[in-house]
Amino acid sequence: MGEMLHLRGNTLAKGDPVALPLTQSSMFHLPGSPEGFPNYGRVNNPTWEHLEHVLAHLEGAPCLAFPSGMAAISAALFATVKAGSRVLIPSDGYYVTRLLAEQFLAPLGITVEQRATAGFGDGGFAGFDVVFVESPSNPGLDMIDLAAVADDVRAAGGITIADNTTLTPLGQRPLDLGIDVVVASDTKAMGGHSDLLMGHVASRASEVMQSVADWRKVAGAIPGPHEAWLLHRGLETLDVRFERMCDTAGVLAERLAGHPAVKRIRYPGLSADPAHDLARAQTLRFGFLLSVTLESEEKAEKFINSCPLIRPATSFGGVHTSAERRARWGDAVDPGFVRLSVGCEPAEELWQAIAASLDGLT
Ligand SMILES: *Cc1c(COP(=O)(O)O)cnc(C)c1O
Repeated sequence: MGEMLHLRGNTLAKGDPVALPLTQSSMFHLPGSPEGFPNYGRVNNPTWEHLEHVLAHLEGAPCLAFPSGMAAISAALFATVKAGSRVLIPSDGYYVTRLLAEQFLAPLGITVEQRATAGFGDGGFAGFDVVFVESPSNPGLDMIDLAAVADDVRAAGGITIADNTTLTPLGQRPLDLGIDVVVASDTKAMGGHSDLLMGHVASRASEVMQSVADWRKVAGAIPGPHEAWLLHRGLETLDVRFERMCDTAGVLAERLAGHPAVKRIRYPGLSADPAHDLARAQTLRFGFLLSVTLESEEKAEKFINSCPLIRPATSFGGVHTSAERRARWGDAVDPGFVRLSVGCEPAEELWQAIAASLDGLT
């Protein structure tokens, strides 16, 4: 992915700025016929186009940028469903996707059904027009066999959308496994610095991308040029950050698994994890997210709030290690369940701080 850093650089003319210029403009100088020129900030923006060039390179497919992960998910769903469609979504994935489906798709005459990520293929896909998956799921970190689901859904005449937020295209390539559309929140590891919200849709199906582009233009769910610029900058270091975060998560997972305060741990990279075989088969890295279940809500809160190298915060994927108790948002998890997002701190310092906080719980 080193060439990602030079995607734009190799097109520069003498005297051009090396860093991407930020085009903060709603209007373009447009005398005469507008044909072939940027025309209006809801339709085109050169900063988005540079960002989408990098995103497309990462995904190996055409990409469109959105102002948040939910804007990308909304675009992918509204571009693929119609009244009467049957849609299948995970019951244990990112909860706002369920809210969107229940509050805004179901009232339009779309049938929304839910299924747990573990065993997602059981029951088949006959009669579903759109099957939406998230693997590994947030926060449970269960996985599904993306290639098998993609094949089965296609054979049944439906299309698949995969939320690839938790692993990024450097960790998992759903389109290469046969999934039709990838959506992601770039607010997480892609941006990586906890200073922006963004998202994207990627697909090799040109009709879907045309519809997603039309949705963005018509619904107006467009990214701000400054956010696009920040994400572009974040992506320049994605591979360095992601590698460090995954390496450290692997080290921490092994050690946490042996700590007496940890009742249960989930990390796809652990050989005893229920998702390990699937992770080995279909991911490039095991990711930077793990979960530990501590004895009680009180101990979990104390752990999260007392560790000097953990930011108690919702969201994940930033350079700062962060954690939260997901039950505080109503996720169907144990009250002592803590999602830990491993950042870019030096691994040994981070482990020392985490171990000291866990030791202090007794
Ligand atoms: C955060 C997240 C989203 C939503 O992204 P926003 O950028 O917050 O809109 C969607 N899916 C998953 C898996 C997420 O973690």
